[in-house]
Parts: sequence; C-alpha cells; structure tokens
Amino acid sequence: MNLMRACAKGIKNMKITDIINSGRPSLSFEVFPPKTSDKFDSVLAAASEIARLSPSYMSVTYGAGGGTSQYTAEICRALFSQGVTPLAHLTCLSSTRERIGAELNALRERGVENILALRGDAPEGFDRSTAHYKHASELVEEIRRFGGFCIGGACYPEGHPESESLARDIEGLRKKVEAGCEFLTTQMFFDNNILYNFLYRLYRAGIQVPVVAGIMPVTSAAQIKRLIAISGNALPQRFLRIVDRYGDKPDAMKQAGIAFATEQIVDLFANGISAVHVYSMNRPDVAAAIQRNLSEILR
Ligand code: FAD
Repeated sequence: MNLMRACAKGIKNMKITDIINSGRPSLSFEVFPPKTSDKFDSVLAAASEIARLSPSYMSVTYGAGGGTSQYTAEICRALFSQGVTPLAHLTCLSSTRERIGAELNALRERGVENILALRGDAPEGFDRSTAHYKHASELVEEIRRFGGFCIGGACYPEGHPESESLARDIEGLRKKVEAGCEFLTTQMFFDNNILYNFLYRLYRAGIQVPVVAGIMPVTSAAQIKRLIAISGNALPQRFLRIVDRYGDKPDAMKQAGIAFATEQIVDLFANGISAVHVYSMNRPDVAAAIQRNLSEILR
C-alpha cells in the first residue's frame, strides 16, 4: 500500500508525544536497516511481521556513516503503509547541512512525522574537528527550523560513555531539550533502579519531557559481550547468573532473556513508567513473545 492509499484508508500517523501522553501503556519495537541491498527484503519482511503485532510505534535506526540511510526512510514508509507510526532515527556527526536537508525532505515525502535526532559516532578515521554538527542538540535545532516533525533524542541512565559525569551528561540533555527535543529514549539498562535514579535526577534538573525506557531482551551470550563493549552497561548479578547458567544453551538463554526483559517491563509499568521501547533487533519472534507476555497488562 502506498502513502496515498494509506491516507485514503484513514491510517493516522501520530506524534510520538501524543502516543506517550495518551494515558495508555505504550510498547514500541525497533528494527535496524540492512548494510547491503541483498538483505533489504528480509529486513523488510521482519519489520512487517513485527508491525503486524500493532505496537504503539516502531523505530528504525540509521547507519551512522550514512551507508544504509536510504533504507531507514523506505522501511519507515512500509511501516506507515501497514498502519504503524514510524520513528526514523537520524544521525548528524559525519553529515552535512545539505545532506540533512535532503534526509528531512525524503522522510517528509514518505509520511514520517517523528525523528529521533542523534549525534551518532565518528566513523573510522573521521576528523571530528571538521564536523558540521558537534552535538545532537544542533540537529534538533535544524529539524525544528525545518518544521513539522516531532523530535526525540537519546539519553543514558548510566551516563554517556564520553561524559565525565552523569551531572555533565544531564547538562547536555538540558541543551537538547531547550533546542526542541520533545521526548527522550533511554539507552538499554538491566537494573530498573538505575532508571528510577536517573529520572529523579532529571526531575531535580527541571527536565520535564517524557522519557521512554529502552529495554533489550538479551537472547544469546554473544549478544551480551557486544553490548558491554558498546555501552559499558552495568549488569546485575541476577542477570549474570542467568548468562552463566544458560549462556551455552541457546533455547534456554532465549527463554530466560525474554523472561528477564518481561519482568523488567512489568516492574516499569507497575512503577508508573508509561512508555517502554523494546530493542527487538529485527526479531519478530522475540517481539511477539514479549508482547504475548504482556497481553493483559497492555490491554
Ligand atoms: P549527544 O546528545 O550529542 O551527546 C553526546 C555526548 O555529548 C554526551 O556525553 C553529552 O553529555 C554531550 N553533550 C551533548 N550536548 C552537548 C553540548 N551542547 N555541549 C557539550 N556536551 C554535550 N547511533 C547510530 O549511529 N544510529 C542510530 O540509529 C542510533 N540510535 C540510538 C538510539 C538510542 C535510544 C540511543 C541511546 C543511542 C543511539 N545511537 C545510534 C547511538 C548514539 O549515536 C551514540 O550513543 C552517540 O555517541 C551519541 O549520540 P547522542 O545523540 O546521544 O549525542
């Protein structure tokens, strides 16, 4: 179904902030685009299968170097055609103003109304002193000037790996919010107390935009090693014991990882968090299992 037909069918594209503020618990999923064109169809198929679960919205990540950027917009268009509100990620560190302008036009043409504005990480050999954008807050400003998008940003309950302290990080967040960021999505965390503590710090700092809690169901031991290397996350003993016990039994590890993530989400909803984003990593089986486990809670 193309964009015109989606509109004709009355499919509504909602602002993420309206979804989060609707008073109903929101559960969203994430997909990432392929690096090469031969994988595009299989990623699209996985995204469509997740979309059939009718999540509150779905986010599509963006290749930092821009190599796979056109796929983000195409996957967003497909999700919208299926009646799911898309949230397109967009990074800026190694981009130019012209390129960002082109990306915004491409997203608008595909019916995308929500963008997660990110700095991104420097590609190998990139000289950061030449960057047009130094921080996500500058991209947020640019998108706001462009107009018509609901803008989100990333936040890090355990602090961004480059940040000297959580306090400095929160000052960076304040700039992002002042620039026009309307909601925040967290980096994954495995101990909910870390999020509750972070939310308290945001509250004390007067940052009042809604925060979507990012949860990663870890379904293999290899995934854990990658995650720690990328994010430097703290892993609770309770979680490490699961990996020790089931890490070499793939089916058991998957079941335990989904159960752990489900338990985290139940605790978040029970403590008044209204929006949870699941890093579902192009895995319809994992997304479906989480949603099934929460069926009555989401009703
Ligand atoms: P920023 O907001 O710019 O923050 C980076 C650092 O700079 C922080 O330490 C912050 O405290 C500091 N800072 C921020 N603003 C200022 C300022 N004005 N002055 C001084 N210091 C400041 N990467 C991808 O490539 N593609 C994706 O799709 C993607 N999606 C993500 C989704 C989520 C929810 C998260 C949490 C991360 C995602 N990332 C993605 C990774 C992200 O690009 C990296 O973590 C990157 O290093 C920082 O991006 P940011 O937008 O948080 O940067």
